[in-house]
Amino acid sequence: MPRCAGSKPDGSPCERIVPGSQSHCYSHDPDRADERRRAASKAGKSKPNRDVADIKRRLSELADSVLDGSVDKGVGAVVSQVLNVYLRAVSVELKVKEVEEIEGRLEELEALLVQREEAG
Ligand SMILES: [Zn+2]
Repeated sequence: MPRCAGSKPDGSPCERIVPGSQSHCYSHDPDRADERRRAASKAGKSKPNRDVADIKRRLSELADSVLDGSVDKGVGAVVSQVLNVYLRAVSVELKVKEVEEIEGRLEELEALLVQREEAG
């Protein structure tokens, strides 16, 4: 079984199995760079990872402000509730991204199966 000729971000070789007609998996195929860029740009607009970091920073600042008395604890409680709802929404976005990644890998597997059926 041929393996992808690409490398993972840490520099180790990508070990995904690819159809014989291809040398790279979806993540590393130079011909699909545009497609990946579009997907990344779509994901980039939601910026879930940046959002999570932002929410963590705001919760931490809020905690400090409540502790030093510059924010009323009642206000702090309400704001932390709102931030928690926001955090849940961001988690859903991250799950959607994961599903899209899995769909991409499924497409690769389907292509591989079709190719094997054609060969057999
Ligand atoms: Zn690869």
